[in-house]
Amino acid sequence: MKKEPVNIKEREHAARVKDFEEVVQGFSEEEALQEASRCIQCKDPKCVSGCPVGIDIKTFIGQITRKDYDGAYSTIRQKNNFPSICGRVCPAEYQCRKACVFTKKGEPFASGQAIGIHFLERFIGDYGARKGLRVESSGDAKYAGARVAVVGSGPAGLCCAGELARRGVRVTVFEGLHKTGGVLRYGIPPFRLPRNILDLEIDSLKELGVEIRTNTIIGKVKLLEDLFAEGFSAIFLGMGAGIPSFLGIPGENLCNIYSANEFLTRVNLMGAHTFPAHHTPINIGRHIVVVGGGNTAMDAARVAIRLQHMRGIEPDTTVLYRRTEVEMPARRLEIEHAKEEGIRFALLVKPEEFLADEKGFVRTIRASRCELGEPDKTGRRRPVVIEGSSFEADCDLAVIAIGLGANTILTSATPQLATDKYGDVIINPETMETSIQGVFAGGDIVGGEGTVIEAMGMAKKAARAILSYIIHNKGENDEK
Ligand SMILES: Cc1cc2nc3c(=O)[nH]c(=O)nc-3n(C[C@H](O)[C@H](O)[C@H](O)COP(=O)(O)OP(=O)(O)OC[C@H]3O[C@@H](n4cnc5c(N)ncnc54)[C@H](O)[C@@H]3O)c2cc1C
Repeated sequence: MKKEPVNIKEREHAARVKDFEEVVQGFSEEEALQEASRCIQCKDPKCVSGCPVGIDIKTFIGQITRKDYDGAYSTIRQKNNFPSICGRVCPAEYQCRKACVFTKKGEPFASGQAIGIHFLERFIGDYGARKGLRVESSGDAKYAGARVAVVGSGPAGLCCAGELARRGVRVTVFEGLHKTGGVLRYGIPPFRLPRNILDLEIDSLKELGVEIRTNTIIGKVKLLEDLFAEGFSAIFLGMGAGIPSFLGIPGENLCNIYSANEFLTRVNLMGAHTFPAHHTPINIGRHIVVVGGGNTAMDAARVAIRLQHMRGIEPDTTVLYRRTEVEMPARRLEIEHAKEEGIRFALLVKPEEFLADEKGFVRTIRASRCELGEPDKTGRRRPVVIEGSSFEADCDLAVIAIGLGANTILTSATPQLATDKYGDVIINPETMETSIQGVFAGGDIVGGEGTVIEAMGMAKKAARAILSYIIHNKGENDEK
């Protein structure tokens, strides 16, 4: 008889909207064993090919059923340095779980019957962290003395650093901000990814010998040629896509209109929600509109409604999206959580203009209703404005979360680094090497906005190429 999926425990929404504590509680041992026992150990496990870093899912789930948790941890860590992070933020419903045999073919995302692979990964990641398990460096004499510089400490940079350090390469990560983690820290709020989890997994890299230098913008403080001159044999670029896109509509520059990046950074990185305990303030409105349908929009809306609750403001936060919920790129779980927390969704609505009060603060949004037309080049049906459907609504704080583009600080300071029309770094997809010899790249700076695990997948590929590059150029580097 088919066993029923184990539901993951979550904090009750009336309580959780008043703080930034973690929402999803994770499996107990008993629940993990029960969920793992649903896996039928397919001969040809499709879930593995659904994972961008190729975790041996079948094996680690089998190890859980035998209570060999140390073994499961080791299996996961062979391929993934950050199981507790990925177990929390991976859009598994589009990746490993979608490929699970329990998801019917052709479904746009995993059915509820698919094995809770990411929850099991999280269970094991947290177990390993509690127990202080580590994956030792398998230092290889071939790489002794080799030094690699990594630009950016997001998932791509950290993953590449970890892969190289495990082989005995000396890695230095240069991060422009004062804290590490990239979007994991400044974008994803702590109620989805607690900071102690993030810190623990980053600390495990430091234990492998990775050196991290924050407050160092490569392209300003140092150029790539400075890094080579300092003796780094190769460089990995993982600068991410940190530049927000805007709507380009009238009134978008009014006071109290934020890009999602600024809004989330103020709170997540600079503690604006605890002002004046922290120095950075944030205005919070009575009628908040978040424009967009991705993870960033869900995070911004969920942060906004928490701030309204915490400041005793009657909550009124609405997500405005041009298409329908089916086309929303956000994770299903985040959409469900946002709804449970009282966020309203105004779908098939396109913003046209923001209107101000006499002091220049946004007060009103004018928008039009849409219907879906023919599919565009992404395959999603295009929103078409319905003539004469324009309407106005109260809006005293708006957050624009419609996408992010390449961070260009380094690329504009390095003209010999080839980029495409979006500003993304061009690479040889076989080797992840850029137009500059010895410089490799991965993550959102290459593919545009993606996911944490996709960034890590690219970084792992680049790390393999960097290791070959080091061997190939060893004689040359030794002479430097
Ligand atoms: C709000 C938000 C929520 C998201 N939620 C999810 C989710 O739930 N699940 C998921 O899988 N994906 C999610 N994503 C996408 C995911 O976070 C990204 O795909 C991933 O972080 C990309 O990793 P990266 O290392 O390429 O870049 P980033 O995480 O952007 O890291 C790049 C780092 O490089 C630094 N940097 C940039 N330029 C320089 C320079 N010149 N010198 C030094 N340092 C520099 C930046 O400060 C930054 O720390 C989300 C994205 C956002 C914005």
